[in-house]
Amino acid sequence: MTRVLIRGGFVVSMDPRIGTASCADILCDGTRIVAVGSALEVADAEVIDAAGMIVMPGFVDTHRHVWQGAMRAVTADWSLLNYLGGIRMSAAACYGPDEMYAAQYQGALEAIDAGVTTVADYCHNVLSADHAYEAIRGLADAGIRAVWAYGFNGPPGASGLTQAGRVALARQLAARHFPGRDARLTLGLAPEEMPLWRSTQEALEQFRLACELDARVFWHCNCANSAGERPREALRLQQLGALDERTVLVHMNYTVPEEWQLVAASGAAVACTPETEMQMGMGLPVTIVAREHGLRPTFGIDIVSNNSADLFTALRLALQGARSQMNQPHDGEFYDGVPIRCDEALAWGTIDGARALGLEREVGSLTPGKQADIVLLETNSIRLVGWDRTNPAATIIQQASVADVDTVLVAGRVVKRAGRLVADERHACALLRAAAERIAARVGERGGFYVSPEETVQLMQSSLSG
Ligand SMILES: [Zn+2]
Repeated sequence: MTRVLIRGGFVVSMDPRIGTASCADILCDGTRIVAVGSALEVADAEVIDAAGMIVMPGFVDTHRHVWQGAMRAVTADWSLLNYLGGIRMSAAACYGPDEMYAAQYQGALEAIDAGVTTVADYCHNVLSADHAYEAIRGLADAGIRAVWAYGFNGPPGASGLTQAGRVALARQLAARHFPGRDARLTLGLAPEEMPLWRSTQEALEQFRLACELDARVFWHCNCANSAGERPREALRLQQLGALDERTVLVHMNYTVPEEWQLVAASGAAVACTPETEMQMGMGLPVTIVAREHGLRPTFGIDIVSNNSADLFTALRLALQGARSQMNQPHDGEFYDGVPIRCDEALAWGTIDGARALGLEREVGSLTPGKQADIVLLETNSIRLVGWDRTNPAATIIQQASVADVDTVLVAGRVVKRAGRLVADERHACALLRAAAERIAARVGERGGFYVSPEETVQLMQSSLSG
């Protein structure tokens, strides 16, 4: 067991009992934080000098498809329909287990580099048992904390797994690869989206499996209208008895008021992804309406084949988008203050995210007893020099970026130090580069990434019958 002392930083704990402290130490023993205080006397610890640094809990991303990183920015000018046809129904089939490993390993390191220490990885391309093993191995090797959500989806004709085979594989993975709740990797499940259900019975079996395996459920919900009608997918889930406090509902843009009440009463959590939602025609993030119903919105990157992998950008976009909507009643007149403060946005990306993932006892704040998932931001730079010490959340949310992430610890282990990843970054890049080239070549043989709307509909229909 190793002890690490982070000395003399400006601590932003996100724990209301500790608050912020302008010059404080954090002692980590093994995987956990054991003390937060001033001038801690410790003889046998590695000392990390945090003078001039903001010391904060690692970001918690509640919705990301890490496997898609080997198709970087391919979808950046696409709508949701283009994405469904081009990636989900088509290019996904061009991944083998090796490509899954490369993307998961690089993607987890990219998250760590950006100060994201926990990610809910919605892995909806498990085309074989080896795809699953390699996806999990990539996360494990990178050293990130993750809820790895086993997805039941796949492009039509790409997988030999039947529903029974998928269920059996999930049980096997749970037994062999996910030892317990305090492990760095925990298991989640991502049942198929309602428009892709082949039968209600089959879908319910996927949700019930989550109950059996004590796994968090991640589910794309209410993100598109069907023929002008609100989809009411959360309502349907509640009627089927499958909406509960283990559920993380993703997107939710076209949710009706009745459903919001049911969601709030169920104890389910909500994950928003501002960049993909605003681009792809999924509507505005539900930040405001979720708050109005007593829910704490949480945020994720979503499609890493689309946008950046850092939560600084997503949280800033979410905050400013919500402020913009809430400012509209002023109709251009002068007024006092803003409706949501940066403190709240920082909570969305840390402690609220941890709560959504059922990990609030483990991560999300710098609290003795919790896992030592810690990020240090260097403020002695041309970007952050002179930062406002009366409002650290303002600097973190409105002005900081990946370039400011100096040091990252996950479970007490230093995974980024002095601005550089500890892992062999060149190796990760070489793996990803080769995987991206193989995928691009295979996709090229199929006619390219873009798939027409007509063909997309055909593919989705064949997925339903397959
Ligand atoms: Zn998603």
